[in-house]
Amino acid sequence: MYAGQKASKDGTQYCLFPMDYLKANQLSGPDSYSHCCGHPVDWGFPYNPYPYYAPCDCTRIWTYPENGQSIYTSDAPVWTPSGKTYVSFLFAHDNSIPAQTHFYQGDLIGHSGDKWSGSGYILAHCHLDQSLVHNDVIVRYPYTCQLGTYCYALGNSAQCYDVFYLGGSEQIVDTLGMTFQTIPSTPEPEPWEPPVVPPGGEGDLTAGGLLLLLKYRNRRQKHGKRVTRL
Ligand SMILES: [Zn+2]
Repeated sequence: MYAGQKASKDGTQYCLFPMDYLKANQLSGPDSYSHCCGHPVDWGFPYNPYPYYAPCDCTRIWTYPENGQSIYTSDAPVWTPSGKTYVSFLFAHDNSIPAQTHFYQGDLIGHSGDKWSGSGYILAHCHLDQSLVHNDVIVRYPYTCQLGTYCYALGNSAQCYDVFYLGGSEQIVDTLGMTFQTIPSTPEPEPWEPPVVPPGGEGDLTAGGLLLLLKYRNRRQKHGKRVTRL
């Protein structure tokens, strides 16, 4: 999505991918470096801090500033590639989590960063996790990833392409094989319906048209000119 983008269908918002740039640096899975549980993805950017936006109208429900982490949940059910549902999403490593807690779709909601309270340092990026439930919570799993840290994820973590739609204008550099769906670029056409004929309408109009043509022809003939067309 781009800054300020809004998209909805039938009064329900689409859940848009929160960034305008897609470069996945790490997927998730048992063998991954630091995402051995859940389905978070680390996203990189051409520069840092890089902005990202509210995928839908949403409210922050949890934060852990020491790791630049925050969880948001949608204010209402939204359209996702998995259907119409509430969603939750988690951002991590933001060096300056905004003070405001409520956001409208398209609002600036955070930036990539390197906030991390663990040992060592990390390169700036955005760790994004997401789920298809309301008010999801972070879960710390009793596993140690290759990095040597406990793994954490949203309790109902889902694949990002099952939660977010692309808005259609993103720069896609590398999704590491993930395939996203894109929202329709134009509003869906209204189903065709027969035109409404006003009372006494169509027949009268036809008769009126014929009457005018006859008057025209009669006038032309009266002035001695040949009528070549009706
Ligand atoms: Zn991560």
